[in-house]
Amino acid sequence: MSGIPVGISTCLLGKEVRHDGGHKHSRYCTSVLAKHFDFRSVCPELEAGLGVPRPAIHLREYPEGMRLIETRGTDDHTGAMQAFIDRILPSLADLRGYILMAKSPSCGMERIKVHNPEGQVVRRDGQGLFAEALMRAYPLMPVEEEGRLNDDGLRENFIERVFAYDDWMQNVAGDRLSAGALIGFHTRHKFQLLAHSEKIYRQLGPLLGDLKSEPLADLANRYIHAFMEAMSQRVSRGSHMNAMQHLMGYLRDAMGEEDRKVLIEQMDAYRRGEVPLVVPMTLLRMAQRREPVDYLSVQRYLTPYPDELGLRNNV
Ligand code: SF4
Repeated sequence: MSGIPVGISTCLLGKEVRHDGGHKHSRYCTSVLAKHFDFRSVCPELEAGLGVPRPAIHLREYPEGMRLIETRGTDDHTGAMQAFIDRILPSLADLRGYILMAKSPSCGMERIKVHNPEGQVVRRDGQGLFAEALMRAYPLMPVEEEGRLNDDGLRENFIERVFAYDDWMQNVAGDRLSAGALIGFHTRHKFQLLAHSEKIYRQLGPLLGDLKSEPLADLANRYIHAFMEAMSQRVSRGSHMNAMQHLMGYLRDAMGEEDRKVLIEQMDAYRRGEVPLVVPMTLLRMAQRREPVDYLSVQRYLTPYPDELGLRNNV
């Protein structure tokens, strides 16, 4: 089976494409994520024709807009970068996520230094030109910087979003859109939605209540924008507790008195931060496996991504 298509800055794969001929190899990406993601690498600077090695470049802001200029001198590579961006963007439409290299005037997602026409730093809230164009073209696509994947919560959140977005792209987007496909997606992700944002969960149920109120494509578009916005919110322990309590309600008959006691103890221990999410979640999965409830067997909340990623051991 091939993996989920995900874009990545080429230097993170260990390829020597940086301006100084070096790389920024991410072992987590190449050793762990590569087992599940089919990485498509892009080095905007190299592929825009700037070569390796090449002079370092940075962002300079002029009254007419942002430009990519060599740090020493005034050579301007904005045109070459823009032409590359226009050429490559349409080919990235099927990606389910993107991992970018931080601090780069091309790939950086946030907090990039912006200079004035004289080359002095005037602010630090810029975005790399390629990253900015990518995120504008594909606002639904989960995008994260590699460095931020060292944070357990951000990593779990990004990967969960990639798998959810992959489900959308495979089963609902484009020609596959139908009322049944949309409702099926919502059903699979209900508990995840509830955990991430109860507010958006309560809005999206009624939105799907009357599928004839507007053209289905418009409704699906509104739905997935709100869904992905909800999914980008980090889940607190309290929100996981809420979702797990809802789940437990469905599993009442599958659990004996003692099992239920242990589950409640472990959920409380999770709430207090004494055990990771995997502990109560495993107990819920055991109960579901013992006496499967149809409605829960499709819920992605129980298994949002492959267990071997170990993500719930650390949140
Ligand atoms: S940060 Fe982007 S442009 Fe720079 S070397 Fe890596 S892939 Fe290439």
